Amino acid sequence: MAPPVTSLRRGDVPDRDWTDWRWQLRNMLTTADELAGVIELSDAERRGLAESRHLFRVGITPYYASLMDPVHASCPIRMQAIPSPQELDIREEELRDPLGEDHHNPVPCVVHKYPDRALFLVIDRCAIYCRHCNRRRLVGGDDPPTSSEIDEAIDYIARTRRIRDVLISGGDPLLLSTAKLDGILTRLRAIDHVEIIRIGTRVPVVCPMRIDDELVAMLRKHHPLYINTHFNHAKEITPEARAGCARLVDGGIPVGNQAVLLRGVNSSVKSLRALMRALLRMRVRPYYLFQGDTVIGTDHLRTPVDTAVELYGKLRGWMTGMGVPHLVIDAPGGGGKLPIGGEYRVSTTEDEVVVRTYRGDLVSYPQPRERDCTVAYDDVFFAGEPDDDDREGSAEMYG
Ligand code: SF4
Repeated sequence: MAPPVTSLRRGDVPDRDWTDWRWQLRNMLTTADELAGVIELSDAERRGLAESRHLFRVGITPYYASLMDPVHASCPIRMQAIPSPQELDIREEELRDPLGEDHHNPVPCVVHKYPDRALFLVIDRCAIYCRHCNRRRLVGGDDPPTSSEIDEAIDYIARTRRIRDVLISGGDPLLLSTAKLDGILTRLRAIDHVEIIRIGTRVPVVCPMRIDDELVAMLRKHHPLYINTHFNHAKEITPEARAGCARLVDGGIPVGNQAVLLRGVNSSVKSLRALMRALLRMRVRPYYLFQGDTVIGTDHLRTPVDTAVELYGKLRGWMTGMGVPHLVIDAPGGGGKLPIGGEYRVSTTEDEVVVRTYRGDLVSYPQPRERDCTVAYDDVFFAGEPDDDDREGSAEMYG
């Protein structure tokens, strides 16, 4: 007989365990039996859990599972975390590597796609395995980067002077020990041409207890440092998530949010407005709203592009511009981020531009008489500085 499943419900776990991020990671829910201890699983969820196991790992912190609606399978937390049987319905146009990252891999653990930015993948583990993940081919396995691969990646960044901005991602970099992450950040900070460092993490959403004073004190040493997180629904913005984000922001770390538009999860005006407003209230700046990537097994979670644009049109003007992220498609194959929302221009002539307001009225913006916009002082202020395109580096590496 199988041993009974220990309860991972919030009320059944001592506080000292619940608030310990390592306990949360050690006790991630991975099976239907464990989830059935927390929610009433639907037949479709049971099938999804049984049938999609070979496609992409399942893993949910007890904290994130505690946010699930115990009854309604349409809960946005459940839809992001529990596989649907539709994941098996893989369409021809869906890709393993939708952003073409594997073609821009000069060394292991580095994706160098844009001239001045490099993505540094430091870990292959997450505190949740999101059903819409575009890097599912790389995360959740048992093949973490070796220390020599990390060394090779840092050497590449150090010798590639074009790189001004390093985005540390994975997997989730905040799952590394504080000391290990500190070591990586210290080595990056020692590289003169690395101007800013960004960290991409879903920890504030799914394991906010990880953001403790020790972590924030360590991160603060490495400014200018930015964090981009990934809230998709206002239901995720709990007192714990707010406290975690407050610790980061109070530590002087700007926090932005990259949401993904997901069909049935947040694809309504109400849901998007509530998310953006809740983010602003906790001082997290909405940054991107992504149209879903064409990654395998996610067709059921993507919205038509027209729907995305229509929803987006109902954000701008209805709330402060600070609450309106950029709506983008990350071009399949690696063309980069393409804005698709917010075209308010109706016509343009030498004399005027006609624009449509968020309420649908047309207004005219008169053009200036002078057309030459040269900044004469550039020759003084930037004297002797090479243009970005001429910066020393290995252009051929990023294609
Ligand atoms: S946390 Fe990020 S990398 Fe990890 S599964 Fe979710 S989307 Fe993918």
